[in-house]
Amino acid sequence: MDQPLAIVWSRPLPEGAEPSTVTVSCDHAGRWHVSLLVETAVAHLASTDATVGVDAGITSLVTLSTGEKITNPRHGNRDRARLALAQKGLARKQKGSNNRAKARRKVARVHARITDRRRDFLHKLTTRLVRENQTIVIEDLNVSGMLRSGSLARAISDAAWSEFRSQLEYKAAWYGRDVIAIDRWFPSSKTCSDCGRLLDTLPLGVREWTCPGCGTAHDRDVNAARNILAAGLAVAACGGGVRPTRQQSVRRSPMKQETQPERVGIPRLQAWGGSQSTRPSAVVTGQRGSSSWLAQVSRIQVCAGSSQNARDRSAPGPANTFR
Ligand SMILES: [Zn+2]
Repeated sequence: MDQPLAIVWSRPLPEGAEPSTVTVSCDHAGRWHVSLLVETAVAHLASTDATVGVDAGITSLVTLSTGEKITNPRHGNRDRARLALAQKGLARKQKGSNNRAKARRKVARVHARITDRRRDFLHKLTTRLVRENQTIVIEDLNVSGMLRSGSLARAISDAAWSEFRSQLEYKAAWYGRDVIAIDRWFPSSKTCSDCGRLLDTLPLGVREWTCPGCGTAHDRDVNAARNILAAGLAVAACGGGVRPTRQQSVRRSPMKQETQPERVGIPRLQAWGGSQSTRPSAVVTGQRGSSSWLAQVSRIQVCAGSSQNARDRSAPGPANTFR
């Protein structure tokens, strides 16, 4: 290395902070990242009465119980042509050649661009939700199961639900907010949020419906988000998980399912806020640009069973740690 690196700081180091660990990594797109680990205190936000339910969708990334729909930016779609071109170039290069290595980096750069734009969008959204609300209720969707099982794969992947959820959870822990995940078999779509009537069926294509019980006109997603909020607040009031009787022999599909009325006694709910342990943890995030610096240590509440969070938040590529 014969010249100084052009460094892009993601943010200034906190006043008087002494980095305890410096991590240097290079991702597949050839971008170098330097992460500084420092101890800092994250102040909780002033508490608020606002609560929100979040329904995950495809056409709208999320729908809020307030009626707001946040559109999926579909960055993946826009970049797909660019990616296809880069991959075609890669396929034509001779194995082991320098040109092939260059083409591979080109493909990696397109992937990195897609990931960066999606992450940026999700960060803005999750920060806003955490700032505005004391309690955020989401559905415990099985995203990896959905990804394995076919046609919804690309759309759900673009929607990046698992990243959305993990960002929500660690930011909520930083700022003293609660995230409650309710069971994905809770019939959120086909229950009337006004009178509680449970429909027998509600095909996926039906975006709007009128309740036969009370005559209220519902938007499918907004109604679902309201039910999710109500279920989550019920869980919060009961404390811990609520597990009414349910037939355990029923084979579970990884897809979002809503149980048939005859099998539903009381919806089976699970609280993520219940069993938490507290431990210090590091968060290192890669940013766009040729290199970046971002490190933060805080007291993070880790929900039991959410060990994937740590992986989602680590910087890409091999890392060398210098102490
Ligand atoms: Zn109704």
